[in-house]
Amino acid sequence: MTSSLLLGLIGDGISASRTPRMHENEGAAHSIPTIYRTIDISSPHLAEATLTELLTAAIRLGFDGLNITHPFKQKVIGLLDEVDPVAARINSVNTVVIDSAGRTTGYNTDVTGFAAGFRAGLHGAATEAVVQIGAGGAGRAVGFALAELGIGDLIIADTDVQRAEGLATDIVETSSVGTRARAIGLDELEGAAASAQGIVNATPVGMKAYPGTPVDTSVFGSETWVADVVYFPLETQLLAEARAKGCRTLDGSGMAVNQAIDAFELFSGQKADPQRMRETFLSF
Ligand code: NAD
Repeated sequence: MTSSLLLGLIGDGISASRTPRMHENEGAAHSIPTIYRTIDISSPHLAEATLTELLTAAIRLGFDGLNITHPFKQKVIGLLDEVDPVAARINSVNTVVIDSAGRTTGYNTDVTGFAAGFRAGLHGAATEAVVQIGAGGAGRAVGFALAELGIGDLIIADTDVQRAEGLATDIVETSSVGTRARAIGLDELEGAAASAQGIVNATPVGMKAYPGTPVDTSVFGSETWVADVVYFPLETQLLAEARAKGCRTLDGSGMAVNQAIDAFELFSGQKADPQRMRETFLSF
């Protein structure tokens, strides 16, 4: 069994991340002393550092694992010894396990995390037709997770239409359950949302810096379910308006907590306690 864990998160502007505390608390609960550092390229002393240097340093210093976030989730793939098939398929890695010989294996727990959060929070939700808004970093993970959840028609909108088209094509080419994914323009969004059973926001709209909703909620019926990946704040305007209409909703904590649960299990070989991880996440 792992006797201690040295972990880190590499990314840009990550000082407020809740992930370190989730791993350190969970490690302590398993009697595994755990140190989890943020390795933030926005800090002045790392301004010149490359991803290769940071990864090499972590391996040499004996780190057991890393989480990887914006802007490195795709870039890190070419630097790893091995990549899990799911992460390879979506071309994005957010978790790197480093073994005692310094060998690195990449995984994507954003996909498994969103799927687990969805199963727990929107159990039994209708999945024939879903509209997803946003096809960036989080959106790619969400799109592949929705395909794995068995969504029939996945309609993807993004202000960057090419990004939405690229994600739709990648999902169609790799979906094992035959999800029919397609991109639409923003001018078609309200019409598609009005006839969809579920809506997922994977844009930053709803954060303090990006107020508002990514779609006009007046087109939702009370049977529409609505999920948001934004978790700061947890109660976005989109979810508040949807709830006021009687819709089932899922906030961004499900994905955030479950990606950490899956990563902890990869790092430690131990089952994380979902309730404890969630309580830690919400305790900030
Ligand atoms: P990103 O910049 O990589 O992607 C955002 C995408 O949304 C872009 O493709 C952009 O063109 C599109 N977009 C922006 N505004 C839009 C609009 N009004 N309509 C349609 N498309 C629009 O960002 P990201 O890393 O994917 O993060 C998106 C959000 O997800 C952030 O709020 C982030 O905090 C959150 N996030 C949550 C989790 C979680 O675990 N819950 C994980 C990762 C990211």
